[in-house]
Amino acid sequence: MYSINEQYARLSQRYLFSEIAARVARHAALHPEAEIIRMGIGDVSRPLAPAVVEAMHRAVDECACAATFRGYGPEHGYGFLREAIVANDYRGLGIRPSDVFISDGAKSDTGHIGELFARGNLVGITDPVYPVYVDANILQGNRIQFIPCDESNDFTGEIPENRVDILYLCYPNNPTGAAIRRDKLQKWVDYALANGSIILYDAAYEAFIRDPDMPHSIYEIEGAKACAIEFRSYSKTAGFTGIRCGFTVVPAELGPLNAMWERRQGCKFNGASYISQRGAEAVYTPEGQRQVRETIDYYLGNASIIRQALSEAGLHPVGGDNSPYVWAETPDGMDSWKFFDICLEKTGVVVTPGAGFGKMGEGRLRISAFGEREQAVRAMGKLVEWIRK
Ligand code: PLP
Repeated sequence: MYSINEQYARLSQRYLFSEIAARVARHAALHPEAEIIRMGIGDVSRPLAPAVVEAMHRAVDECACAATFRGYGPEHGYGFLREAIVANDYRGLGIRPSDVFISDGAKSDTGHIGELFARGNLVGITDPVYPVYVDANILQGNRIQFIPCDESNDFTGEIPENRVDILYLCYPNNPTGAAIRRDKLQKWVDYALANGSIILYDAAYEAFIRDPDMPHSIYEIEGAKACAIEFRSYSKTAGFTGIRCGFTVVPAELGPLNAMWERRQGCKFNGASYISQRGAEAVYTPEGQRQVRETIDYYLGNASIIRQALSEAGLHPVGGDNSPYVWAETPDGMDSWKFFDICLEKTGVVVTPGAGFGKMGEGRLRISAFGEREQAVRAMGKLVEWIRK
C-alpha cells in the first residue's frame, strides 16, 4: 500500500487565485449583467514587443526546415541566451554564463530550489509574500519563520536576531510593491554571510525599478555572490507569462550548489523552448530594450493612476513607483476577504485580498497595474466613488 505526502494536507485549501476566480465566477453567475473589472491577478495584458515577435517568427521558420531544425536543446539553456544575460543583466558583476540556468520561469525555479537543501532547515520568509515560497516549503516539511514587513521597516523586514538557514527575499515585492534600497540589501547580505545563510532572491520585477538607489540585482551588493541565488523572469519584463522563459543564477562562489542545480535541472527539466529563448534573446537588442521599456512605462502609468485614486479614497497606498503592484489599507481595517466581497458586489472591481499573502496582509489589499489604461481609470473611478459614499 502506498502512502501519500501528508504535507499536502497542511497547504491552505485553495491557491489564492483559484479562490478569487471561484468567488468571481459565483458573482458573475448571480449577476450576469454586471460589469467585472479585474484588477487582481498579476498577469500582463500588453502584446509582445515587435522585436521579440520577429525573433520568434524566425525561430519557427528555422524549425520548418530540416537543415536548421532544433529538437531538444541544452537543459541549461542555449549559449546565446546565457551569454546575452551575462553581457546585459550582469555586466561588470562577475557572473559567468555557467552560473546562469535558463528555465520556463521563476515560479518553477523558486518552487523547486528547495530540493538543494536538507529537510528541516529553518526558512525565513517575509510576510506578506508570494504564496509559492510558503507552499513549497510546507511541502518539503521545513520550519518557517515569518518576517513581518510593514511601514515600520519600509516593507523590507527587520533583520532577525536568531539565525535562519534559508531566506527568501523578493524586491520589487509582490504583493507590497516595495523595492529595497542598496544599504538595506547590504544588511541582509551581511547577515547571511555572518550566519552561513543562503538568500533566495526573487527579482522577477526588477525591470520596473526606476529609482537609481534601488539595485536591480542582488549581485550589485558586495559579498552577495557568496550567499545568494537570484531568480529572474521574462514574464513581467517582456510579457512572457504565456510564452514562458526565465532563469536562475547560481554563482560558482556558492560551491557545490552550482553543480547540484545543474544536476537537478539535467535530471528533471528538459529546457525552455528554442522559440522562447530566441524571443528572450531579442529583449536585449536595442529595439527590444526600447520596446519593453515602453510597455513597462505604460503599466507604471496605470500604477500611478491607481495610487492616486487610493490616496484620494484615504486608503494610504504604497508601492507602484518601482513596481506594478499597489498595496493599500482596507477602509477602517476591514477584514480583507470581506472587503473583496463587498467591493466586488458594489463596484464589480476585483482586487486581491491582502490576507491571501499572509497574516501581515490582513486589513490590506493589492491592486495590480497590469491591464489596459481605460480599465484602470474606470475601476479606480468606481472604487473612489463607492468608498467616498
Ligand atoms: N515571483 C514572483 C514574486 C511573482 O509574482 C511571480 C508571478 O506572479 C513569479 C515569480 C512567477 O513568474 P513566472 O511567470 O516567471 O513563473
